[in-house]
Formats: sequence, C-alpha cells, structure tokens
Amino acid sequence: MPRVCWYMTEKCNLNCTYCFAFKRNKHPSYKQLKKIGEILSKQRINEINLIGGEPLLNFATYSVIEDFHEKFNISLSTNGTITPSLKGIGILKKLSRLCISVDTISHDVGMLMRGGNYAINDILNNLERYLNTGLCIEINTVVTTKNFQHLRDLANYISSQCPPLKWRLFQVTFNENVSIEASSWAISISKLKSLASELQNDYKSIDIQVYSSERLNNQYIIVNCYGDIFIPSLNNYQKLGHISDFNFADYQRQ
Ligand code: SF4
Repeated sequence: MPRVCWYMTEKCNLNCTYCFAFKRNKHPSYKQLKKIGEILSKQRINEINLIGGEPLLNFATYSVIEDFHEKFNISLSTNGTITPSLKGIGILKKLSRLCISVDTISHDVGMLMRGGNYAINDILNNLERYLNTGLCIEINTVVTTKNFQHLRDLANYISSQCPPLKWRLFQVTFNENVSIEASSWAISISKLKSLASELQNDYKSIDIQVYSSERLNNQYIIVNCYGDIFIPSLNNYQKLGHISDFNFADYQRQ
C-alpha cells in the first residue's frame, strides 16, 4: 500500500527555509482527526506517518496515537523541540518509529536553516530522553550547502548514541515561495551521495540512506488535517481528492 503521511496540525514553532508543509497556524480538532482516522483504518494501510507542522504542538496527536496504534503502525516526525510530559512519553512509546529532524549540531547553522524557536541543546536533550525509552529513533537531515560541511560532526554525534541510529539524508528541494537566496542552497545529489558513502564507510554502526528530491516525488500520499489528499510532485503538491471518496488501493494500482 502507498505510504501515508497524515497532518496533525498546520502550526509549527520553527520556520525552516526549506519547509514544504501546509502552514496556516491552525490545529484541527480531535473530532476532525478522529473522523479521518476512522476512514483510514478501513484501508489496508501498514504504516502512517504523523506529520505537520509540528505534530506534538497539537495535544490531539496523543489521542490519535492511542486510538489507532492497534489499527496500523504509526510513526511520527517531529522537529525535536517539544519536550513531552511523562504521560506523553508513555503514549509515544506506542509508536513504531519516531523520526527527529536534526540538520546540524551547530546552533548557528541550525538557526540559519530553521529559525523560529530553534535550540540545538533542547533538541539533543529531547533526543537523548527518547533514546532512554527504547523507542525506535531515526534522524532525518535535510542537506543544503549550509550544513553540508558539518555533516561529519553530526555523524560523530549519531554514532556515539546507543543503540546506533538510522540516518536519512534528504536532498533539499525548494518550492516557489522560498527566497532566491535560500534556493541557491541546493546541493547536487552526486555530491550528497559521495559524502554519504564516505560517512558510511567511516561510521559503520550507522545505517545511512540518501533520498533525492526526485525519488520522493509521487512516492507517498499526504492527508491534510481536513481529509484532502495530495501527492508531492515537482516543487509542489497535486491534489487528488478527499478521503471520503478516495480509494487508496486503486491509486496504487495505477
Ligand atoms: S519543522 Fe517541519 S513543518 Fe516546521 S517549519 Fe520546519 S519543515 Fe516546516
């Protein structure tokens, strides 16, 4: 079945230069999300990735995990800046995977790329807290010309964690709304693959995967907070319809 990414909110506390998310500074209600979850749970979907905005800014996200973690595997992508309560951690332990975005361990480079409430120390403290719970953790890094030369420092940090983490490196893509300056931060896929292979060689305990912007096109389905369905296509989103009359299985057969 297609991979499904489901929006828990359109609010975020960061302002990444490369952000592709729908951001209208609004949370959907738990009732709205539950209705969508009930429709999704009738499809043959193996895994749903909860995204946003920042999904942990919406408390309804925790209820969604509690309601649906037995219906499908749920993973969650967070920017790592939110520190959940102990009760929240207990609920997050029901996830199949937690993906945390860490682009660099340099605070200044991170601020340049991500703005908002970015604070690398908070992110690393939260990450270490999650690691102590035994959750399956993946690190997602968007690579631009700004953090490229800092990736080895990040590899050092990741390899020092226990157990060794999965690390996914994404080639940055920009949509038409970003500034011309940020658009010039793009890095070629050959350069990224070449560094990834050097790092893989030097840090054998880390499982490194590289995703090109083209590889991501049409590879997953996005369900927004209101049940509208999209696929990512070159530098934009293409709307496919609404969850109330969308057949996931037919879509995959096309
Ligand atoms: S953390 Fe995610 S949703 Fe928030 S601004 Fe960055 S890319 Fe966008």
